[in-house]
Amino acid sequence: MRNDFYKLKSGFKTALCAFSILTAFSTSQLSAQEENPIDPYTWLSEFKSVALSEGISDETFKKAFQDWKPIEKVLYYDRRQPEFSRTFWNYLERSISKERIERGRLLLKKHEKLLNEVYAKYGVQPRFLVAFWGLETNYGDYTGGFPVVGSLATLAHDPRRSEFFTKELILALKILDQGHIDFDRMLGSWAGAMGQTQFMPSTFTGYAYDGDKDGKKDLWGSLTDVMHSSSNYLSSVGWKGDETWGREVKLPKNFNYELADLSIEKDLSEWQALGVRRANGRDLPNVTIDASLVLPAGHKGPAFIVYNNFKKIMIWNRSILYAIAVGHLADRLQGKGALVAKKPANDKPLHRDEVLELQAALNKLGFDAGKPDGILGSKSRRAIKGYQVKYGHPADGHPEADLVKEIIAKSKS
Ligand code: CA
Repeated sequence: MRNDFYKLKSGFKTALCAFSILTAFSTSQLSAQEENPIDPYTWLSEFKSVALSEGISDETFKKAFQDWKPIEKVLYYDRRQPEFSRTFWNYLERSISKERIERGRLLLKKHEKLLNEVYAKYGVQPRFLVAFWGLETNYGDYTGGFPVVGSLATLAHDPRRSEFFTKELILALKILDQGHIDFDRMLGSWAGAMGQTQFMPSTFTGYAYDGDKDGKKDLWGSLTDVMHSSSNYLSSVGWKGDETWGREVKLPKNFNYELADLSIEKDLSEWQALGVRRANGRDLPNVTIDASLVLPAGHKGPAFIVYNNFKKIMIWNRSILYAIAVGHLADRLQGKGALVAKKPANDKPLHRDEVLELQAALNKLGFDAGKPDGILGSKSRRAIKGYQVKYGHPADGHPEADLVKEIIAKSKS
């Protein structure tokens, strides 16, 4: 769970938080973005007057900052850049292991009573709650070992995104002040995401709920509180408890891939009329529901039609890959099988340098990929799509290896 800032930066954030172990990072871009922060102790005394004027108690402030200094490791995580862009299959394999599916199924059963109570109250199906829980912290195993106040203070002191993190820091101090968690137990990710489903302090403030009625909103130790809070958040953003997230589908030959766009919504009957079928070839469900089409690995990869709840998962974390992983894991927990589409033999992530070269080539050819930054964002994908339309390729916006080679070669000819 991330806050607004992360909603904007999503794909990148997931790379930072969940996949640090599998992706190599470089910090070579670091110096270019460095600004000089003010002395931490000057900052702290200025911040103290802000915090106290916000109603934070002197006692909480003293306790929280008695040994504080900026945490180097937090800045390191904040600055690093992914060396490789992820592929859909790489992401899916890492997020949905056999172990995670099996354990999730056991937990779904074990906590059936709690999950059913929560479903009755908020209308979020148990399998989705367990899927979020599994993806965020491996069912509570990895809630993060950074001191939340210390990390947020480091990022608030740092000039890069000071405003955002200062707000989060104030809210974290209020949570301490309210006694929901002891200072020593208030641990989280390097960026301040807390507890078993990784709430930022602002999300905690807006949606955390004391499900077990002990007077504390404990998202670290009380699974009842965790499930109430997560459902409360999802139902507040418009989750529909009588709908699923979407499904894998099969597209007909010569399909117009430009329709694969989250901003394009059609009723299932319209998709059916366009030749879209379930992955097993059968007709789409005969129900009235708005759906968009997504192709997370380009037109040669799997296709999904996705519903309202998919877009709500993307409010939690604005990454298409994350949203598919939540939905697919929820399906697997329910006993459904693996995807019908299979990973291709040449599934290779692009290196930062290749992405930089691709972006420069697209710009040179007149397709605006923005300032080359080595990150495949929506602007780069639109530029690729523009190229594909002009040169008669299926317009899926996907940087497949052969296409990347072609674009770079053309820019040099
Ligand atoms: Ca509680």
